Amino acid sequence: MAIDLRSDTVTRPSEAMRTAAADADVGDDVYGEDPTVNDLEAAAADRVGTEDALYVPTGTMGNQIAARVHTERGQEVILDRESHIYRWELGGLAQLSEVQPRTVDTADGVPTPEDVAAAYVEESLHRPGTGLLTLENTHNARGGVAVPPESISAAAAAAHDRDVPVHLDGARLFNACVALDVAPERMVRDVDSVLFCLSKGLGAPVGSILAGDAEFVAAARRVRKLFGGGMRQAGLIAAPGLVALENVERLSTDHDNAARLAAGLDAIDGLRAPEPDTNIVQVHTDALGVDAEEFVATCEDHGVRGGAHGPTLTRFCTHLDVDRADIETAVERVAAAVEELRD
Ligand SMILES: *Cc1c(COP(=O)(O)O)cnc(C)c1O
Repeated sequence: MAIDLRSDTVTRPSEAMRTAAADADVGDDVYGEDPTVNDLEAAAADRVGTEDALYVPTGTMGNQIAARVHTERGQEVILDRESHIYRWELGGLAQLSEVQPRTVDTADGVPTPEDVAAAYVEESLHRPGTGLLTLENTHNARGGVAVPPESISAAAAAAHDRDVPVHLDGARLFNACVALDVAPERMVRDVDSVLFCLSKGLGAPVGSILAGDAEFVAAARRVRKLFGGGMRQAGLIAAPGLVALENVERLSTDHDNAARLAAGLDAIDGLRAPEPDTNIVQVHTDALGVDAEEFVATCEDHGVRGGAHGPTLTRFCTHLDVDRADIETAVERVAAAVEELRD
């Protein structure tokens, strides 16, 4: 069987998650009457140390809700050029909040205080003003980089000094926390809202959490309804999310597997795979003279699935459904694929 390393979203719900779904106590969540959703929101808020939290269908919706709540039409949003919100959410900032992105080139995915100061625009007769700063941790497109809490806090302080709120896209927040051994409360201490996914490394079939203070979450609840995310007996999908919250600590296993995978692939002549911070391995095939599309297709023929993320950049992601034996097999299969590409 193919070893699927395209993303940590490909995991199948565990027996415990399926049982939790089947047994879930439910009600109409738009009326606030689904006890399982209420439990999940309380547990999630507790996990990141915020006043409140909101269950949303996807990470994308959570980020876009946050942008809508924090901004006014026409304002600018400062964010890293490679950030998910800018690159992979269909221009949602423009479509759903009618704000314009002001991208920043960063070294490691997080704008410095100097970057924030330079990108900030003061509202005037001629200029729209900056309405939001968004940060990302771990940083997906930069290879699952775990951004240290000090960098988050420094960027947030620079924004707050200018009365600009800060949203953290923490789709893989807990990967960063586990990798850096930092409490989630500390990681999100200085931001005004945070999004994290239950459906990635934590293994839930559906769902993300948007967390912040009570006022923010109340506003976010209205925007969730506006965006079509008000769900009814959502306890059925929230119940596996509660089980997923138990999977935080084990993310270190995914990180160990990713480190082993990177080392194994880096040792193959023609491939370059830097040591990853978390569960995302980036493999460069420029030295092999092969583009990512062809590399991915050949790996797939040999039973390993990855994703092309640049002209000669391929991404492999470790997750709950692959163990160390799978990783060793994956390295052997990719080595065979590279042999074939050389011929
Ligand atoms: C996956 C991801 C999202 C979006 O989550 P979906 O549930 O797929 O919509 C947002 N931000 C980052 C950094 C991600 O990796």
